[in-house]
Amino acid sequence: SDYVVIDRVAKTYNPGSRQQVDAVTATSFSVKAGEFVTLLGPSGCGKSTLLMMVAGLDTPSTGTINVAGQPMAAPRAETGIMFQDPTLLPWKSALENVLFPFRAMNRPVAPFEGRAAQLLDQVGLAGFHDHKPRQLSGGMRQRVAICRALVYEPDLLLMDEPFSALDAITRDEMNLVLMKMWHDHRRTALFVTHSIREAVFLSDRVLVMSPRPGRVVEDVAIPFDRPRT
Ligand code: ADP
Ligand code: ADP
Repeated sequence: SDYVVIDRVAKTYNPGSRQQVDAVTATSFSVKAGEFVTLLGPSGCGKSTLLMMVAGLDTPSTGTINVAGQPMAAPRAETGIMFQDPTLLPWKSALENVLFPFRAMNRPVAPFEGRAAQLLDQVGLAGFHDHKPRQLSGGMRQRVAICRALVYEPDLLLMDEPFSALDAITRDEMNLVLMKMWHDHRRTALFVTHSIREAVFLSDRVLVMSPRPGRVVEDVAIPFDRPRT
């Protein structure tokens, strides 16, 4: 069944002005429940714009986006998001950062401490729960961000080039961590990258985008069953 449905979506920034940008034009696609789909394309082709609209952090100029059968109106608590910059709170420990979504939603934190600790263990940070972000490497900080994105048990995971700022070796490690977590938790996932290698490694399906105007030009199923952990 289709979990995310993008129907003839277009996004124009600053319409009618000299700074007008047609960031996304006439784009339709859907993501099935449990599927891992990647938007692949060069810088400026509209990948982030599409992802932000699916997140409810931006609205289409025309067209509609449905998530879990509902038209997107506002950001949903059930959507987990990761960005290139993990934006951890520097004065809080890894564990407190993972639990931050509950604080931000003004919900009690204590009932979720066990789950947060378990997630950190799963990403290989068993000995680092009390470390502050500055005591962690870049890859470790993104591991914390994966846990934070999963702690609310989201049904949809959106990721905007989460590993692009990392060195190549750490990045490959993080792709393995992400696959393991995705395997264990089975969320519908929409991932953005400009790396063909990363897209093919991670995805069930790759949507290739081209810029000016930004649109999906190819929809490629990755046919073989890869080992994912
Ligand atoms: P990508 O994620 O593929 O690099 P983006 O979605 O960030 O692409 O950008 C698509 C196009 O829209 C680019 O030309 C970019 O400069 C433009 N753009 C993105 N955000 C804004 C904005 N807030 N205001 C004006 N133009 C924007
Ligand atoms: P980036 O997007 O940051 O360049 P990649 O993971 O795409 O990172 O690339 C890592 C290395 O693998 C680079 O040297 C790149 O040229 C190479 N590479 C990327 N995609 C392919 C591919 N499809 N086939 C062979 N080499 C690739």
